[in-house]
Amino acid sequence: NAGAALYSAKANGRNNYQFYLPEMNSQASSLLNLERLLHQAIEREEFIIYYQPQVNIKTGKITGMEALVRWQQPELGLVPPEQFIPIAEENGLIVNISEWVLRNACAQNKAWQDAGFSGLRMGINLSPRQFQEPHLVQLVADILAETGLAPEFLELEITESTVMQNVEFAKTMLHILEEMGVHISMDDFGTGYSSLSYLKKFPFHTLKIDQSFVRELKDNLQDMAIISAIIALGRSLNLRIIAEGVETNEQLELLRRLDCEQIQGYFFSRPLTVENATKFMQEYWAQSWNGVTTQ
Ligand code: C2E
Ligand code: MG
Ligand code: MG
Ligand code: MG
Repeated sequence: NAGAALYSAKANGRNNYQFYLPEMNSQASSLLNLERLLHQAIEREEFIIYYQPQVNIKTGKITGMEALVRWQQPELGLVPPEQFIPIAEENGLIVNISEWVLRNACAQNKAWQDAGFSGLRMGINLSPRQFQEPHLVQLVADILAETGLAPEFLELEITESTVMQNVEFAKTMLHILEEMGVHISMDDFGTGYSSLSYLKKFPFHTLKIDQSFVRELKDNLQDMAIISAIIALGRSLNLRIIAEGVETNEQLELLRRLDCEQIQGYFFSRPLTVENATKFMQEYWAQSWNGVTTQ
């Protein structure tokens, strides 16, 4: 095969030879390419934040938005976070990207609050690496001061694996953030190696039930049992519970029956640009959304 390159894997510290097949080659080079393009992305202002509403299905009110970053790469189009966040985690660029997201999403929430959408929470995802940054607390404090956003309208979303990496450090960081008045949300709850004692150890305000439990809710009695257990647990610990990934009316009605108050998902809205999210809120704000009625 003329395309197959022979290369020395000296980087591994060994002197063995490996066959590098063309498809691996193009995969590797496109990863390298992505990484190279990612380095220029911030200064070229190629990131954009989409906002997905969170809704209380009892009151019909929009309670918050989650900030979800995308990369508008001129040649590649809209690159989803799952394709570039892992690369950015690896090479450290995540720290700059996250700072940009924090600053912009907080400023956007302040602008929305000023426009009358008061009480709206802004969920912002923090990656494991960013959470290891000792400057995180100062950065959050600076951004809140800079944007004028009240701390309780910022909700930092972290996953179980993020706190697992360094439990004691995480505990300290989260307690400082909590003392500042910032809210903390446990994202993708139920998918990691969760120890229930973490719920006691860490000052969470919100649990987000992972979408994998919601997806097959209709046919899967186990998922139903898991969700109802999470809801009971959350309620007794006085936590806000949000079910993620609600796509159908059927799922919504099952969640309603399980007494889940808040949802986020395509059924209500996909993540939206600032403009569309504003329009969306103008249509729903202060007006009760009763969902789709049950028969
Ligand atoms: P996540 O924080 O769990 O975000 C929820 C993901 O589910 C989002 O994907 C959202 O668009 C998607 N989603 C929402 N509703 C539905 C639904 O009804 N059905 C389905 N199938 N999906 C739904 P997205 O935007 O592609 O983000 C993926 C992940 O990337 C996020 O998961 C989060 O872990 C990460 N991410 C996104 N933005 C940021 C960021 O600014 N910083 C960091 N560190 N991570 C981010
Ligand atoms: Mg999230
Ligand atoms: Mg999630
Ligand atoms: Mg996720």
